[in-house]
Amino acid sequence: MPTTTTEATPGVAEPDELVEKLEKIPFDDSRIVKYGDPVLRQVAEPLDRVDAEIQALIAEMGDIMNRAHGVGLAAPQVGKSIRLLVYDVGEGLQALINPVILKKKGEQMEPEEGCLSIPGLRGVVPRANEITVKALDGAGRPIRLRATEFEARVIQHEVDHLDGILFIDLADPATLHMETPGREDAPAE
Ligand SMILES: [Zn+2]
Repeated sequence: MPTTTTEATPGVAEPDELVEKLEKIPFDDSRIVKYGDPVLRQVAEPLDRVDAEIQALIAEMGDIMNRAHGVGLAAPQVGKSIRLLVYDVGEGLQALINPVILKKKGEQMEPEEGCLSIPGLRGVVPRANEITVKALDGAGRPIRLRATEFEARVIQHEVDHLDGILFIDLADPATLHMETPGREDAPAE
């Protein structure tokens, strides 16, 4: 395990069993920051405005996410420690800036989660089934949205990234496994 991760996250030590699994993560050359980079463990900074530069970043993150066949991507995953995330659960690219989850309701256990920053690893993560979120949209307008099921799962995964939390921190460790090549798994986030 890269020592930078340990330094960046005092008190967060992965169990040996998990370290072994993480060492099997395949190399890939996409621009997505991978597990071990300290940026993934930082608490990201809020944005004070949504300007053309941020809008360009949103579009770029959408492209990176699509090329990686992902359904969500948070700015720290492209090396930017700012509170911005994008996702697409089949209804087009959505951007949330400075998102805050105001309400959580119910629980869901499926599908297994994966993360574009931890390629190939999967695990069962309990998530709220319904959430209410306030944020700014890609145009900088304040919005409030209610999301359920898969959309709610993706948003919770991405908001966690903004706080330096990874799905492996929340997954039932016994369920963490490398995906089987050729098997249809849920897309990663
Ligand atoms: Zn992720």
